[in-house]
Amino acid sequence: MLDSLVGNERAKETLRRMLRQGRVPAALLFAGEEGLGKKSFALELARALNCKERRGVEGCGACAACARISKFQYPAADERDEHKKVIWSEHRDVGLVRPYNRNILVDAIRDLERESNFRPVEGAARVFVIENAESLNEASSNALLKTLEEAPPTTHIILITSRPSGLLPTIRSRCQTVRFAPLAAEELESFLVKNGKRAGAEARLAAQLASGRPGVALGLNLDTYRARRDAMLGVVEALAAGGDRSRLLRAAEELGDAKNKEEYEPRLDALEILVRDLWLLALGGRGALVNQDLRERLARLAEGLRPARAASWLTRIEELRGQLAVNVNRRAATDALFLSMSAD
Ligand SMILES: [Zn+2]
Repeated sequence: MLDSLVGNERAKETLRRMLRQGRVPAALLFAGEEGLGKKSFALELARALNCKERRGVEGCGACAACARISKFQYPAADERDEHKKVIWSEHRDVGLVRPYNRNILVDAIRDLERESNFRPVEGAARVFVIENAESLNEASSNALLKTLEEAPPTTHIILITSRPSGLLPTIRSRCQTVRFAPLAAEELESFLVKNGKRAGAEARLAAQLASGRPGVALGLNLDTYRARRDAMLGVVEALAAGGDRSRLLRAAEELGDAKNKEEYEPRLDALEILVRDLWLLALGGRGALVNQDLRERLARLAEGLRPARAASWLTRIEELRGQLAVNVNRRAATDALFLSMSAD
């Protein structure tokens, strides 16, 4: 049932309308950021088309067909040959294609083309999902165009992408687009709680950090986030206390240290989120804090902090990100960031 999925009510309505009218297009494009559940929606549509005990126009979610549709054995990322063909679910009419090394191989689309010509084997429709469709290269795009033109009415191809502009216009124009959007943080929080995924403050923090993307909220490791946040809290405290230079330089040294390379960007993210919360508090506490669990501690730091000062810290962090994109010395740039923040 589509209602087992969280959010994106408009997408649900669009799909239900197609099902009710018996007019599910041959080609659909599901567009929206990563982590919004586009693939789950695609598989739910495959269920609706192949369920043995439909509820209205939707899949029951419980029959043998529904159960097998979402079961895939994915090949390892480095198995090139396995990415040259359709990866089948345990249901013989539902398969998907995914990129190998950021490229959808033309052989995979040729296999899809061949398979798309067959009548359904056990259900009522053949459904093919193309993951990361922006990874179609020129050859695979052309092969897909041919498939889209020739597929029989019992075949449906669902392209999934977070970057629709990366697709050839000729492909986009042959697909009916369904757009996906992030959820309100409250909606995601209550989904996490209701489904027993996370409780209380954990659910709130995950929903805020994930910016309304359920897939991201479910995959977050909050312990890791809090460890990074603790490291950056020291920086924020030193700044708010008037800029203890030696403490800031020690923090910059640790952050910029090459052995923490993998940690650099996530910590910078954690710092930015802390500063944004401080800024909101300095403005009078309007808007939802991400780090709601630290509200009291952050509120003390925000006392006497001018909003403009916090805002300029945010600008500095963004400037640093711009510099890092062109490969400056990270260590020196981090020293400069913290010193300029303390001088703001
Ligand atoms: Zn079913």
